[in-house]
Amino acid sequence: MENYQDICDSVRALCSQYPGEYWRKLDRENGYPTEFVRELTESGFLSVLIPEEYGGAGLGVEAAVAIMEEIQKSGCNGAACHAQMYIMGTILRHGSDEQKQHYLPKIAAGELRLQAFGVTEPTSGTDTTRLKTTAVRDGDSYIINGQKVWTSRAEHSDLMLLLARTTPRDKIEKRHQGLSVFLIDMRNAVGNGLTIRPIPVMMNHNTTEVFFDDLRIPADSLIGEEGKGFRYILDGMNAERILIAAECIGDSRWFIDKASKYACEREVFGRPIGQNQGIQFPMARAYASTEAANLMVKNAAALFDAGQPCGAEANMAKLLASEASWQAAEMCLQTFGGFGFAEEYDIERKFRETRLYQVAPISTNLILTHIAEHVLKLPKSY
Ligand SMILES: Cc1cc2nc3c(=O)[nH]c(=O)nc-3n(C[C@H](O)[C@H](O)[C@H](O)COP(=O)(O)OP(=O)(O)OC[C@H]3O[C@@H](n4cnc5c(N)ncnc54)[C@H](O)[C@@H]3O)c2cc1C
Repeated sequence: MENYQDICDSVRALCSQYPGEYWRKLDRENGYPTEFVRELTESGFLSVLIPEEYGGAGLGVEAAVAIMEEIQKSGCNGAACHAQMYIMGTILRHGSDEQKQHYLPKIAAGELRLQAFGVTEPTSGTDTTRLKTTAVRDGDSYIINGQKVWTSRAEHSDLMLLLARTTPRDKIEKRHQGLSVFLIDMRNAVGNGLTIRPIPVMMNHNTTEVFFDDLRIPADSLIGEEGKGFRYILDGMNAERILIAAECIGDSRWFIDKASKYACEREVFGRPIGQNQGIQFPMARAYASTEAANLMVKNAAALFDAGQPCGAEANMAKLLASEASWQAAEMCLQTFGGFGFAEEYDIERKFRETRLYQVAPISTNLILTHIAEHVLKLPKSY
């Protein structure tokens, strides 16, 4: 298997220009790492999944995994930009030729930022098929009404991929029907029916809530066929889960590296704390968990790139990697003792950042449900 060493070396070199102070300042100000994202874009790292004919590198998810892992391993925060890599997959797989020709080269060049993904709603939560935002056809337009929550990076994106209901729930036969995907140009929409409000959260994530109030969009904003949006979104979710799992692996490696170095340097009771097995064992366990989770990430990525079904593997990769990174975060904080809480070590920041991934983009319970139902064939629980 290719390990993309050259790409990793280049990503590491780029990330080294964005040290802890850069992220700490943004964290305090809820700022967005504009320069960092611009440089990653200009270096071509965010367009690796876009085929060469549209200006990307035409590589697979395995390459994207290497990039995201390296970003997190370097102490940076890929949450600011990971969506630019994979959201476009819905256009690539389900868009018309015209849409692909129009959008993909601009996304590859960074002229258009497509990193807002509007799925979750405040009332329906994980039960996506009950979402209430509607898109109603009116001549050459659709009129959008409703609300999304946790639409991350909406203020730092030109386009949003939106999942909305086009057929009322009582007129469909199966619950996943009647939903459609739209590509919304937010540059024209904000102030004309689209309102974006930031939601402050426990880490710096630039997440927002978004309100649609009679937003009129051109009918050709529809991606693929009306009513098939849920399936289109599911296709993209495997890539998202694999990439976020790779970020967790990167986080985990960062925590383990920090902790192991500190444990060798810090002397208490006249010897390095790392000489105590009470310090060594949690570190060794976190390392073992990370290596095991990494194998599942690589397995899921290889299946995805081979065009094989990988729903279970992508979910298991996200489950195991998010738990490994949290285990490593806990271990690292404990190894640093009081200093782990001081901002200047970046541990408390990364600790807050990595915790998210047991909840988003899908929570652990829902992954377990997926495995139970689809892999183990247990009765459906909801
Ligand atoms: C910082 C942040 C960024 C996000 N970014 C985006 C984004 O860009 N775009 C987007 O669309 N969404 C985004 N999300 C939303 C995220 O995907 C959801 O928060 C997540 O899927 C969980 O949904 P929920 O919060 O509505 O929880 P709920 O669905 O309300 O569930 C709450 C808890 O109950 C559990 N639960 C629910 N049903 C069951 C069941 N049947 N069995 C067992 N347990 C159950 C869940 O596992 C969860 O732990 C983001 C969230 C956060 C916090």
